[in-house]
Amino acid sequence: MNIADLLNETKKTLFSFELLPPLKGGNIKTIYATVDPIMEFSPININVTYHREEVIYKKHPNGLLEPRKVRKRPGTVAISAAIKYKYKVSVVPHIICGGFTKEETENALIDFHFLGIHNLLAVRGDTPKNEKEFIPEPDGNANAVDLVRQIMDMNRGKYSDEELLHTTPTKFSIGVAGYPEKHIESPNLESDLYFLKQKVDAGAEYIVTQMFFDNKKYFDFVKSCRNYGIEVPIVPGLKPVSIKSHINLLPKTFNIDLPQVLAMEIRKCKDNKEARQVGVEWAIKQSKELIAANVPALHFYTMGSSDNIRNIAKAVF
Ligand code: FAD
Repeated sequence: MNIADLLNETKKTLFSFELLPPLKGGNIKTIYATVDPIMEFSPININVTYHREEVIYKKHPNGLLEPRKVRKRPGTVAISAAIKYKYKVSVVPHIICGGFTKEETENALIDFHFLGIHNLLAVRGDTPKNEKEFIPEPDGNANAVDLVRQIMDMNRGKYSDEELLHTTPTKFSIGVAGYPEKHIESPNLESDLYFLKQKVDAGAEYIVTQMFFDNKKYFDFVKSCRNYGIEVPIVPGLKPVSIKSHINLLPKTFNIDLPQVLAMEIRKCKDNKEARQVGVEWAIKQSKELIAANVPALHFYTMGSSDNIRNIAKAVF
């Protein structure tokens, strides 16, 4: 099923959600434990994030720290296939620029193609914590637009080895990321829109937004996109606050604001359980308003557990 077609054709707001692969050494059962409780809400798709390696520091007995590269969350291709075949649902694996050469990306895309997975979300990947700016691999993609172009080339049967004959064109449908509160590195919203339009012009068929907690930010963003000539569906991404420390962590990590009313409510909570309930109630309010505005879908970031998403979905779908 082509997700972009569904988003374009739907008359009612659809439901989708996103999973993180478990940390290395984890178990696929943790994925199923997240998916099972929310399958009854008939998601149109389940996204699976993709993760590059990170640098960790191993301390030696002499006190010296040795940097080591570790990919803490591998498994996106296998998890996507496991979910697709177990639940008979469309999956949208993410594919990233950071940490991968174009050839490695091509090989992952070939795996998805052979597995019958034809929907992707193409993103650049974050700047690693130990680096000041995003640096692509030599012969890697520098921005999401380059990744979209690589995927679209494969859709036309063009692989990196130009001498290949009789290649099979892939048939990927591509979503990309958008930022109602602007991407952290962007000098201003207009610059972000300029590059977002490039991604769409290159072949992206829909946009999924970064999380936001004030719907006005989303509505304004959609209006700005339309004024800029970006016409594809824009799916709001929602993440319920689930622990007290999110009040500082989420703005810092994702370059977003938490409205003062929400921040005050979370501050009043005596523990994480109360904060989780506040997060659910806030997300229900957000969701109801977005559904009333006829958004094509609500996309939820689960971050590993789904009891809160279940409560929200129960209240709004
Ligand atoms: P880009 O579109 O490349 O934009 C990055 C920055 O560069 C922006 O400031 C943009 O304005 C600017 N820019 C864009 N194109 C150009 C250009 N051609 N020249 C100069 N500047 C340019 N991260 C992961 O590691 N794995 C995931 O699975 C993942 N999934 C995500 C899903 C969603 C819905 C969202 C919103 C984010 C996700 N991220 C993920 C995080 C994402 O990788 C980061 O936000 C990253 O910093 C930017 O990705 P992008 O695709 O928006 O990049």
